[in-house]
Amino acid sequence: MSIIIDEELCTGCASCMESCIYGAIELDNNIAFVLPNCNLCGACVEVCPEEAISLDRDDVKAQKIDISQFKGVWVVAEHYKKKIHNVSLQLLCKGRELADLLQVNLSLVILGTDFDDKLEEFSLYGMDEIIYIKSPILKDYYSDLYTKVITELVLENKPEIILIGATPTGRDFAPRVAKRLSAGLTADCTGLEINLETRNLLQTRPTYGGAIMATIRTPSSRPQMATVRAGIFKMPEKVKKNVNIRKLEYEFKEKDSVLKIVKVISKTRNSVNLEDAKFIVAGGRGVGSKEKFRIIEELAEVLDAELGGSRITVELNWLDPDRQIGQTGKTVSPKLYIACGISGAIQHLVGMQNSGIIVAINKDPNAPIFNWAHYGIVGDLHEIIPALIEEIKKTKSEQ
Ligand SMILES: Cc1cc2nc3c(=O)[nH]c(=O)nc-3n(C[C@H](O)[C@H](O)[C@H](O)COP(=O)(O)OP(=O)(O)OC[C@H]3O[C@@H](n4cnc5c(N)ncnc54)[C@H](O)[C@@H]3O)c2cc1C
Repeated sequence: MSIIIDEELCTGCASCMESCIYGAIELDNNIAFVLPNCNLCGACVEVCPEEAISLDRDDVKAQKIDISQFKGVWVVAEHYKKKIHNVSLQLLCKGRELADLLQVNLSLVILGTDFDDKLEEFSLYGMDEIIYIKSPILKDYYSDLYTKVITELVLENKPEIILIGATPTGRDFAPRVAKRLSAGLTADCTGLEINLETRNLLQTRPTYGGAIMATIRTPSSRPQMATVRAGIFKMPEKVKKNVNIRKLEYEFKEKDSVLKIVKVISKTRNSVNLEDAKFIVAGGRGVGSKEKFRIIEELAEVLDAELGGSRITVELNWLDPDRQIGQTGKTVSPKLYIACGISGAIQHLVGMQNSGIIVAINKDPNAPIFNWAHYGIVGDLHEIIPALIEEIKKTKSEQ
């Protein structure tokens, strides 16, 4: 892959130099040339008013596609035991908003085998259409079959946006589909908006270790694909409306899959479901030690809340890894989030900032968490939490 500059078309306007965040383009005799530190991001290609710059890719034969042919927003459903995963429902809620802005249909794409009796229930989640791909083999998840079917469906139907849960399954097939379609894919988005003028999806996600938020768009390819973790968007309200159901029976041949699922082993360990928790009490380094974490557990117990924490508490072995909240942990959106001794680093905030009510307890009045908290208590958590627990117990006993 390389950047090609057509010297006859280049006018030396320097737009490409300004667009290059790596400083990898310079002018020589008023003609642009590319330096070795170019990372082939293609930003210069887009800004050149003379169309003098192109990205020569071996895998995509620089085909210009007519993006106006692509219409519609799709959510690919993830499911388990005949239930749709919450992240797919949350994507339907966001997808509805995007589809209304773009004035197109919202479709739920579901691959499986025994959903005939569930489609009516699913149709309450606000989509205009359900595309149900039915095949006995799809009772289990096969990455190559998902990739094949979704790619074929996209080529035939041309949706402009595809939203997928950033679960292990979604993270497995989404890039495979994107590669086959030469489409852009942004992983782990925390925000999705539309630029109505260009119909580009503005996909926001943390980058450089969470130090900044980047907004990514894929202006010259379609569909625009994004994965999103559970808890980022709201659950949809149930609505009764006419939903078009397209059932497509698929027959697969043995050669369609290099995989063979021999046995499915269910996880036996009680896993924590922080994503669905209504109340969470989370502790940070300010708690002080593993032993002192007991006070956080006690507050969680009296509130019937789940226990969570910052990454440092996991690294210090005060808390199990599946209770870590943040960029490299879980994304949560409980009704109530109590942050105890947590400073409010961006990597923590991206995992909990959508909580309904955030209460922060911190002895530093300038801790960044207070910029996000609806209620803040400045003081030593070891004095405040016991008093809180006592008060909650008293209130409960009076009820
Ligand atoms: C790539 C990357 C990914 C990351 N992913 C995550 C992630 O998923 N989740 C995550 O949480 N972090 C993550 N981090 C780490 C993050 O940057 C912060 O270091 C971390 O969130 C800080 O944890 P903390 O708030 O518990 O600790 P600190 O920042 O040390 O804050 C402790 C707070 O406790 C307060 N305090 C101290 N004693 C008391 C007391 N007695 N009473 C009340 N308050 C007290 C202090 O004033 C302070 O504000 C990541 C970092 C990187 C680089």
